[in-house]
Amino acid sequence: MVDLVTSPGVVENIRDAAAAGQEWVVGVRRSLHQHPELAFCEVNTAARVKSELNAIGVDRIRTGVAKTGVIAEIDGAKPGPLVILRADIDALPIHEENTFDFRSQIDGCMHACGHDGHTASLLGAARILAGMRSAFAGTVRLLFQPSEEKLPGGAPAMIAEGALDNNDAGPPVAIFGQHVRPGMESGTIGVRAGAFMASADEIYITVHADGGHAAEPHLQNADPVLAAAHIVVALQSVVSRVRPPGDPGVLSIGRVVADGATNVIPPEVRMEGTLRAMSAAFRRDAHEAIRRTVSNIAAAMGATISIEIKVGYPALVNDAGATALVRQASTEYVGPERTVDIDRWYAAEDFAYYLEQVPGAFYMLGVGNKALGIASAVHTPTFTLDEPALETGAGFMAYLAIRALNETN
Ligand SMILES: [Zn+2]
Ligand SMILES: [Zn+2]
Repeated sequence: MVDLVTSPGVVENIRDAAAAGQEWVVGVRRSLHQHPELAFCEVNTAARVKSELNAIGVDRIRTGVAKTGVIAEIDGAKPGPLVILRADIDALPIHEENTFDFRSQIDGCMHACGHDGHTASLLGAARILAGMRSAFAGTVRLLFQPSEEKLPGGAPAMIAEGALDNNDAGPPVAIFGQHVRPGMESGTIGVRAGAFMASADEIYITVHADGGHAAEPHLQNADPVLAAAHIVVALQSVVSRVRPPGDPGVLSIGRVVADGATNVIPPEVRMEGTLRAMSAAFRRDAHEAIRRTVSNIAAAMGATISIEIKVGYPALVNDAGATALVRQASTEYVGPERTVDIDRWYAAEDFAYYLEQVPGAFYMLGVGNKALGIASAVHTPTFTLDEPALETGAGFMAYLAIRALNETN
């Protein structure tokens, strides 16, 4: 048996396999891109994933996990630990403005976050791994997860239905996921240890009063517009006075609706905003401070409130050891000059739920290409990715899995 794990040629072998599979990966990605499906509706996507996995010859394919998810496993030639790789498969309710021939065929639905690229890359990694079983001891589990873009996320349901369960070797030793990033040059890998992405909670506040003539505010119990204005200002004290200075966080009120008139004080004002935190401690304290601030200011001004804080994904915290492994493996696979340290990202990502239970890391795959004008941000109607990056996306995931198995064998 050729031991690719310790062979000096392992990187080259995987690069060759990734290059050989690239045309197929691009074909799968374009097909998924043309047929995007929204959260928990990824029926055709899941069917395509299943048929490709069947063709690749992976072991133990489960469909219908968390409604439209797929879990499969690839056993190495010898028993060993369990490592997990994850891709999200859902699209967004955005109408695509790209004009290439494989643009979305579904009005108002688009793979604008690159999850088509994630899915195709993970299939590419699966194909490489299934062709190299003699190269590793242990099992690689593949998660194709629905509904990353919409609360409550697909990850909790995947976990509830066994995504992180032990196998005969015990609990999974590591989990990895990647996300495309057009702000990084094609084929680069971006890593950050520790708190990397934010928790995201939605805040809904309604300030209630009587409403009445704007010339007679003294005859009303309260002015909800004035109370709302004080609330918006006071809420910033949560970030400036509750948040520890070294613990990043953002609170924004993005919607204020006071539907009165020049001469009408409305009976209510509705406000909506978001809280982003990098630690569970600040998040918890912020929730308490938001409720206290809103209700006390409203009370001081004679108004009443209703408040709802919709709890979103937790902060995504990369394990130090797993992140070091990604950085090391990236240095070996794409080279030190293409391995970059990145800043925190205040978007939210339900991969965070996996990381609460299994040590692992979520890293970025550069898919931008300034020379070709590929630079639109994710979640925009002109987002796309530089397809040669998918060769790195597939090959590096396969290498990382083998490297992680090797690390724990
Ligand atoms: Zn997204
Ligand atoms: Zn995404």
